[in-house]
Amino acid sequence: MLQLITILNRCHHFRGFVYQRARFGPDHQSIEVTVRPRKGTRAICSRCHQPATGYDQLAERRFEFIPFWGFLVFLLYSMRRVDCRHCEAVVVEEVPWGNGKHQLTNAYMLFLARWARRLSWKETAEAFRTSWDKVFNAVEHVVTWGLEHRTLGHIDAIGVDEIQYAKGHKYLTLVYQIDSGMTRLLWVGKERTIESFRGFFTVIGDDVASKIVFVCSDMWEPYLKVIREKCSEALHILDRFHIVAKMNKALDEVRAEEARRMLREGRVPLLKKSRWLLLKREKNLKSEQRFRLRDLLRYNLRTVRAYLLKEAFQQLWDYNSPTWAAKFLDEWCRQTMRSRIEPMKKIARSLRQHRDLILNYFHAHKLFSSGVVEGLNNKAKVTMRRSYGFRTYPALELSLYHSLGNCPNRHPPTISSDEPKYRTCF
Ligand SMILES: [Zn+2]
Repeated sequence: MLQLITILNRCHHFRGFVYQRARFGPDHQSIEVTVRPRKGTRAICSRCHQPATGYDQLAERRFEFIPFWGFLVFLLYSMRRVDCRHCEAVVVEEVPWGNGKHQLTNAYMLFLARWARRLSWKETAEAFRTSWDKVFNAVEHVVTWGLEHRTLGHIDAIGVDEIQYAKGHKYLTLVYQIDSGMTRLLWVGKERTIESFRGFFTVIGDDVASKIVFVCSDMWEPYLKVIREKCSEALHILDRFHIVAKMNKALDEVRAEEARRMLREGRVPLLKKSRWLLLKREKNLKSEQRFRLRDLLRYNLRTVRAYLLKEAFQQLWDYNSPTWAAKFLDEWCRQTMRSRIEPMKKIARSLRQHRDLILNYFHAHKLFSSGVVEGLNNKAKVTMRRSYGFRTYPALELSLYHSLGNCPNRHPPTISSDEPKYRTCF
């Protein structure tokens, strides 16, 4: 008969330790497996990681292992203390399946953390009949290890963006690596201030920062300032997606204001339900919507004029030559400034002010479209939406690193080479 201990020896075996006995717990809801040191092996000092002479043994501890067929599984072990000559102290031993801080075994923490990338933390806790706090601990353990062991290496391109994470205008600053071979979240900071963004450069250090070639950002002034200060040699590109988003916002403002005015003046509500007709690209409209849009465009409305300006602007992205793109941009701004539509004029002023940064997109041969940053940021928003129950900023920060950080996973402790390694299902 296949025994539980045989299975454990196959998937979770550690040199120097023996699974002694498996039995049901007193409640019959759990399985308890006692572990003891293999005879003739010495305990390892948890401070200097060297074998040391035994001193005494502590009371039995329970380490929670991966639940099995509906039973909670615990490893029971009495930790030894060693009298370590290197450390000149009595120190508790190091065990390969867990550590002194956590009740959960490393294997179970890896297991929970892996599920917490696919499910929300709440769902993960429910699915494995454990608590939200234990899922939190598991993710924290895995992310902390991953951040300590990741290599920054050479970073070619970064993108910085902000996301709103709570009611009342609370923002996070996110910095991504957007190299062609490597995209990942490098850093999360609270707020979107000069100080917070500087924090990123403190983490990566001047050496890595000085080698960054491209920086992608939106028009948020504190970001622009820090980029000028820290990456003066890099080509700074304004994010295309943000420019389009700003323009849509301006158009929406014009539409809402005009619709209200028409209602007030008792005119035919031409703009009713026109919001998405105007904000979506025409090619993405259904044929019925396209028909309605064409109808709307026949009227001489401020909204229509703003819409046509916005649509005309899209042509900018088709240029390849920075010179021609510049000519187009200048002409568009000139026309828009004569439009007498204030929200659009505001955009034109802003584009003029950031003209060089916009044209850098063409100087970079359009290599760094905002697509990458936008994609990563959408993932970040999905992570946050799933984050029902992230009551605190640290939990949110952890979950973002966990799903987007691309950090290395803790490798299983080495076990004798003829034994199978930690099974990947952990
Ligand atoms: Zn020691």
